[in-house]
Amino acid sequence: MTINEMKADILIIGGGSAGCMAAIRAKEINPSLKVVVFEKGDFKRGGTIAMGMDALNIVSIPGGDSPEAYVETVGSTVDGILDQKPSLVMAQRSYELMRKLESWGARFRKDANGNYEMLKIHPKGKFCAGMDEPDLKVILAKKAESLGVEVVNRTIATSLLKSEHVVTGATGLNLRTGEFVVCSAKSTIITNGGCSRFMMPHSGHPFGTYDYPGNTGDGWAMAYRAGAKLTGFEFTSNAPLIKDIACPLLYITLTRGAHIINGLGQRIDNEGDIGVHAMLREFNEGRGPVLIKMDHLPEEKIKEIEEILFTTERPIQKRFFEQRGIDFRKQPIELFPTEYFLCGGHGSAGLVVDEHAATSVEGLYAAGDAASVPRQHLTGAFVFGEVAAEKAAARAVSLDWPCATQAQIAAERNRVFSPLSEEPSPLDLAEFEQKVRQTAGDYAVPPKNEWKLKNAIKWMTHFKEELKALKAADFHELAKILEIESIIYCIELSAIASNARKESRWGSYHYRSDYPEKNDAEWKKHIILQAGNIPGETLVSFQDIERSVL
Ligand SMILES: Cc1cc2nc3c(=O)[nH]c(=O)nc-3n(C[C@H](O)[C@H](O)[C@H](O)COP(=O)(O)OP(=O)(O)OC[C@H]3O[C@@H](n4cnc5c(N)ncnc54)[C@H](O)[C@@H]3O)c2cc1C
Repeated sequence: MTINEMKADILIIGGGSAGCMAAIRAKEINPSLKVVVFEKGDFKRGGTIAMGMDALNIVSIPGGDSPEAYVETVGSTVDGILDQKPSLVMAQRSYELMRKLESWGARFRKDANGNYEMLKIHPKGKFCAGMDEPDLKVILAKKAESLGVEVVNRTIATSLLKSEHVVTGATGLNLRTGEFVVCSAKSTIITNGGCSRFMMPHSGHPFGTYDYPGNTGDGWAMAYRAGAKLTGFEFTSNAPLIKDIACPLLYITLTRGAHIINGLGQRIDNEGDIGVHAMLREFNEGRGPVLIKMDHLPEEKIKEIEEILFTTERPIQKRFFEQRGIDFRKQPIELFPTEYFLCGGHGSAGLVVDEHAATSVEGLYAAGDAASVPRQHLTGAFVFGEVAAEKAAARAVSLDWPCATQAQIAAERNRVFSPLSEEPSPLDLAEFEQKVRQTAGDYAVPPKNEWKLKNAIKWMTHFKEELKALKAADFHELAKILEIESIIYCIELSAIASNARKESRWGSYHYRSDYPEKNDAEWKKHIILQAGNIPGETLVSFQDIERSVL
């Protein structure tokens, strides 16, 4: 076990979409900046866009639908719980961002006249730009590395460092070598995604989640312990996706003319309207399954869909359908609701940030799925990765190097390594994680009510105690214990926020059987969570919605 002490102008925690973009932007602004990335997996393929992406979901093309129109349409998809400025900034910068990606080699779909293929996935307007880029992550990673970004792979960030009230870097554990990394940084950016391992998926496979399973809410747990504000944790989202494999296909098929039918054979789509809530209702009310039907589509459309699903989206789908004997020309595709998860990109959960990607704690920025910019998707990860880097770089040039104290380092090292033992663990780590996530499924997801949510909180408090007894045989298991701890934090915080919001909102995502109606008069506001002064105490407060754009 060695200690590697580093210094950085900017430390980025998580080398996914937002992290790569932040690293590149920081170097573009000032090549002499020392930019370090902690990445839990491998920088080249880690994160949600591991394989690629089939679209940039939010682009406001000049002459097309305006950024203000985007703010209006996204506001309606999140029932008005949206601070408008960040969404406006994202839409305003989206076209420039798309052109930049193109200049790096990413391919966007165009029609015969050379116009971008814009798809309708929002209630109003066409903001989704089709993209054909299986190697997007590789393009970004290579770009960052060519600019001299220092990547510390296989390193899970464990805690933020703080000096008084200011964040001054973070610590990490290399889960292969056991090296303990201490990075003192002038500015720190959290870009480590949401929490996908929140509850168990229906398949029973712990890592068979819809979102990237390496994202376990570590950044939220770290930032919460450092005093940062979190919001949107009651927005537990899921989606009807391909049964048993949970791969996405809705936007790809429905925007190209597929129909949705229920188990009774009734068509339930509204002429191309991607009504996720309508689909989930069919399951919840016993008219499932929901199926995607494409046998009426012309051959060239089927080929186009196959091309996207089997290359950019996830090549394994080809084998999956072949082995089940499903040909889109003849058979429909069965969907099933995924597990619930927490995510700032698809949902709303995340660190409270403003339009400058600044969190509520000095020296700490957040971007991508870790930040609460509701439904920002990949565009938000890229735009706010850039914004965070710009602000973090400007801050870094005016500061002296911070330095972690030996006491700080020793305390965190002790915390991280204490489970390492030759004794067997009294509880199997995989079984323990399964129990924690199964409990989330029992009590912390819709349909919710006060009894269930309080029970979720009680169990998470209990699991935090049990966690202290776990033993790790190697560094990989040590990292697992850290992940489970973050998952417990996320479930507990979600249950606290869900219990505080005494109404139902966002379709089935926050359905409370004891408060079944939406109540705008009392609840059109943010629920903010923050660590209290007493250990284990979470403060709940409310914040008005910022509506400066519309
Ligand atoms: C299946 C799927 C399909 C999607 N399709 C589209 C689409 O077509 N268009 C679109 O616009 N959006 C799409 N999205 C959304 C979009 O991909 C995400 O919003 C975006 O990629 C999130 O980027 P991020 O950087 O926040 O997270 P990620 O890219 O997931 O990066 C997080 C990184 O942090 C690392 N990490 C986690 N914990 C730690 C830790 N403790 N220490 C160090 N590193 C850590 C992870 O290994 C990972 O590399 C899709 C999402 C999913 C799940």
